[in-house]
Amino acid sequence: MTVIVPVLGDQLSPGLASLAAVDRAGTVVLMAEVMEEASYVPHHKQKLVLVFSAMRHFAAALRDAGWTVDYRALDATAPAASLTAALAAAVARHEADRVVAVLGGEHRLIEAQGAWAAATGVPVELLDDDRYLVSPALFESWAEGRKRLRMEDFYRWQRAETGILMADGVPVGGQWNFDKENRKPLAKGVRVPEPPRFEPDAVTRDVIAMVETRFAGNFGTLGRFGWPVTRAEALVALDAFIADRLGSFGDYQDALVEGEPTLFHALVSTSVNLGLLSPRECIDAAVAALEAGAPLNAVEGFVRQILGWREYVRGIYLREGPGYVGRNALGASRPLPEIYWTGASGMRCFDAAFEQTRDLAYAHHIQRLMVLGNFALLAGVDPHALHEWFLIVYADAYEWVEAPNVIGMSQFADGGLLGSKPYAAGGAYINRMGNHCAPCRYKVKERAGPDACPFNYLYWDFLARHAALLSKNQRLWTVYDGWNRFTPARQAEIRVDAARFLATIG
Ligand code: FAD
Ligand code: SF4
Repeated sequence: MTVIVPVLGDQLSPGLASLAAVDRAGTVVLMAEVMEEASYVPHHKQKLVLVFSAMRHFAAALRDAGWTVDYRALDATAPAASLTAALAAAVARHEADRVVAVLGGEHRLIEAQGAWAAATGVPVELLDDDRYLVSPALFESWAEGRKRLRMEDFYRWQRAETGILMADGVPVGGQWNFDKENRKPLAKGVRVPEPPRFEPDAVTRDVIAMVETRFAGNFGTLGRFGWPVTRAEALVALDAFIADRLGSFGDYQDALVEGEPTLFHALVSTSVNLGLLSPRECIDAAVAALEAGAPLNAVEGFVRQILGWREYVRGIYLREGPGYVGRNALGASRPLPEIYWTGASGMRCFDAAFEQTRDLAYAHHIQRLMVLGNFALLAGVDPHALHEWFLIVYADAYEWVEAPNVIGMSQFADGGLLGSKPYAAGGAYINRMGNHCAPCRYKVKERAGPDACPFNYLYWDFLARHAALLSKNQRLWTVYDGWNRFTPARQAEIRVDAARFLATIG
């Protein structure tokens, strides 16, 4: 009686439900690096190294803990093409009579898992992934019958349900949300602590060599690879965030600073998404820091990202189904401009976000939302093309978390399911939040002409293009009042500038 437990690349948690459900004796854990997963999009080289190295380290940790692990490396002779093929071969090799697995995070995987029983000829037990705080059924119980599915409502419900940052039934500090305090540009003289970087060990160096050879044409550089690839390293990264950066996380959450790619952000998404850290332990660490004196706006802001946003977008992704990534409520159809691959836009805010995306496989939230996403929204880029780009270029990218952020939050392509209005902004916002504008070749204060900041005229052009739909939105009435106060000649000038600029970026 042999049971096969396949562990997927983002299921690297010792407490995984499938591992907890079987006896070590009589179980073979299957871990396979397969081409299908490595190439469903041409991932950033750092993402490939991160996942394969973390998988290899996790397999070693399982063996140390007494598990039998059948590990199939991509560079071994005759690697399997797909997870299904790897599983079918393992069932035959080990003469297994049962498979126990945890459901994958993405529709693509869930669909493949549904065909595993037929492909292997043995019963397949698929367990819910209990590493999230909110199961799909619990999310449904919240969502059912609601007119709107807003993150803020979900978050407050979760706070009340879990008791996190609650005292006697009311939110700690008397407010649910301290977002208004969390919009400061970086103050002069504030030093940003250096986050830990994890020097590649022999295992990671092997994977780097393999990726440099087999995925030479993929996007991104590997020279600055320093992501945590083990749970021990991920814990060091979390501890460093709590000790050195959490205190200012809230204040500077939205800041954009030249030469500061990570600011006070936590840098835990890669580890939480792989399973090296649990979302709950990240929340608990922040709440413990509050008790030790960390500011409430910082702790609440961080808890909201994980207990709120992370759980909420997963619930939306699973609920909305595979068709979600194809939504295009604004009918945007521009192919992804070449500047997303070259970073040669001349717009300093954009190119800075691009450069760190290429070299670190990381950009922080405001760069993703208000620079790279905002630009695509204003330029009318096809949301599906942008979705694929975001899925390719970040080390923490998995469709379940990336798609709602891109299709919903950033592009308003779901027609307002996630957000009550598009996250569209002109250059003034980017200038207010940081210092990219000073060295930029464009002038943020100019609104027209070849030197004017492109975000300025693209912003108005976007609003004009979508006036029929968006001017009905109460939250945009004042903005449309502004547009309507421009003279027809001024409006025409804006639209000409926008068309001229868009023609130059392809
Ligand atoms: P911090 O800013 O320090 O936040 C702490 C943690 O909160 C993050 O690690 C993450 O787990 C969680 N979190 C914060 N914001 C969100 C959010 N909006 N949705 C879900 N979780 C959140 N996150 C991904 O993990 N993978 C993605 O592919 C991804 N794509 C994105 C695309 C766009 C267009 C946008 C606007 C956001 C995207 N995010 C994605 C969310 C967020 O930008 C990243 O989680 C964050 O930048 C990761 O860096 P950090 O760990 O330093 O996060
Ligand atoms: Fe970005 Fe415009 Fe500022 Fe240049 S001037 S950095 S394009 S916001």
